[in-house]
Amino acid sequence: SVDRPRPLVAGNWKMNGVKSSAKVLTEIHAGYTPGLKAKVELAVCPPATLVSLLSYASVGSRVAIGAQDCHAKESGAFTGDLSAEMLADAGATYVIVGHSERRQYHKERDVEVCAKAVAAHRAGLTAIVCVGETREERESGKTLSVVRKQLRGSIPVDSNSRNLVVAYEPVWAIGTGLTPTVADVAEVHALIRDELRRLVGKADAPKVRILYGGSVKPSNAAELMAVENVNGALVGGASLVAADFLAIAGAY
Ligand code: PGA
Repeated sequence: SVDRPRPLVAGNWKMNGVKSSAKVLTEIHAGYTPGLKAKVELAVCPPATLVSLLSYASVGSRVAIGAQDCHAKESGAFTGDLSAEMLADAGATYVIVGHSERRQYHKERDVEVCAKAVAAHRAGLTAIVCVGETREERESGKTLSVVRKQLRGSIPVDSNSRNLVVAYEPVWAIGTGLTPTVADVAEVHALIRDELRRLVGKADAPKVRILYGGSVKPSNAAELMAVENVNGALVGGASLVAADFLAIAGAY
């Protein structure tokens, strides 16, 4: 449809990467041909220590740089934390919030995730808000209600198709090699689109990118990206290898 947004393939490097990993970005630049640029937007989310370095390395390349988390406050006595403003100042234009590893290991709840997304918007960043059910939740038939509750709790009211990306990442699919069926992906992405109509309005909802994440690799990218309401991918492990990341982007 005319409303279909330009897809986004974002790499989440997680806690991987040192200065020499800038060569992965250089390889991504080299493979980001005019034909690919016309089809898909790319973003790389390295650890915060590399945001500045990779942002400088990406100037003029049209590969966006993102961070993996931010604090809700702009500044202050929060030892070890980084504000959205600092990440924007370092060159980030995206920030992932509410990744399941943050929800699990740092006990982040929807209310904190929402505050972080508000902070991202305050700083001029696009928030990539992550949602997704656990294996137990899927097995007990709670997937749709869990995702709906996460969306309602995690997406701030000031969101729109420019400052919000939603990533559906089933927890049981992250780093496991397991993926949902295309029918299951379609069902959840349709629910997310429906919720977005309530959250950002009917006119803007079709333009919000909804990414699928969890064990995306070159061999399954084409079938996942072809699903209705899948507007790109959030890629973990496979984003650490430029050729794999580019092959996933090339599935469009
Ligand atoms: P994976 O991670 O691609 O390694 O499964 C995805 C994610 O956690 O964003």
